[in-house]
Amino acid sequence: MLNPIIENAYKVLEGGELTRAEALEIAEKIEGEDILDLVSLANKVRRKFARDIVPCSILNAKSGVCAQNCRFCAQSARHNTGIETYPLLAPEKVLEAARRAFEHGVRAFGYVTSGYGYLTPTPEFNRILETLDLLHRELPELKICVSIGILSRETAKLLAEHHAWRYNMNLQTSPKRYAELIADTHTIEDKIQTIKYLQEFGVTNCTGGIFGLGESWEDRVDMAFAIRELDVEGTPLNVLLPIKGTPLEDRPIMHSAEVAKAFALFRLINPTKMIKFAAGRETVMKDFQGLLMLSGLNSMITGGYLTTRGRSVEDDVKFIAELNEF
Ligand code: SF4
Repeated sequence: MLNPIIENAYKVLEGGELTRAEALEIAEKIEGEDILDLVSLANKVRRKFARDIVPCSILNAKSGVCAQNCRFCAQSARHNTGIETYPLLAPEKVLEAARRAFEHGVRAFGYVTSGYGYLTPTPEFNRILETLDLLHRELPELKICVSIGILSRETAKLLAEHHAWRYNMNLQTSPKRYAELIADTHTIEDKIQTIKYLQEFGVTNCTGGIFGLGESWEDRVDMAFAIRELDVEGTPLNVLLPIKGTPLEDRPIMHSAEVAKAFALFRLINPTKMIKFAAGRETVMKDFQGLLMLSGLNSMITGGYLTTRGRSVEDDVKFIAELNEF
């Protein structure tokens, strides 16, 4: 027999909405084998409202030496992680990587740099605009998603004028707990304002977060509702891979059942949006990545992450073709 809490959530399949209290009840009371019923509902909602599963890939165009103190991040200069660091890649290098992804069937390409962001058009920011122009000229069918940190109205407008299709700005966790769980060298308000500036100029947003930081279920639900309120197009969800040298190095790895419940909940709260499995799919969830992709997700990052490697794009394209049969 279906758990009545899940039975009530079937209203999402008919176009209804979950309230915050209902989402919290699912988060706190659905456990054990009921999680699979929740996953099944999330997959039905994905099939009805959010289309087929599609891949995107990302390139770290500037690595490390970041003055911010995001607690999960290997690229902060305040953490001793020993990652490879390099300055902004030349436009031609970025084009090479984008072309490779395109040839493997990827149609959305994320251009990512480490750092606070750009409030004025510095020489480095102008070099990024030059790169975006080159990508647009050479690969007009490839959609470019930019992730370069906090922006002002001026720099957001410039990105829109230089072919940025989408922008990635993650909330990472509940806005209420950002300073405590993520970073206190910048504010969540500046990130939210960046999303709003971009929306003003017609750039859509990809805004998600990380699970496994030590947040509560209430924090996860708060993040999902904050994202719903911002009306962004996509939500990348990461599962923390604790990195040695960061303040979170000793965090336990999340159980796959907990991740499945969190993903399904995000789908039920944001039924029509693109929700993607970002980092943690291969490295943390290993044998459970198939199950997790069927917990309501309709996108994944393929071909490696910012500071960790992933599965090959070829393998993922075959994987996605099979997932779309479910
Ligand atoms: S997440 Fe971005 S801003 Fe934060 S430390 Fe890492 S590179 Fe810097």
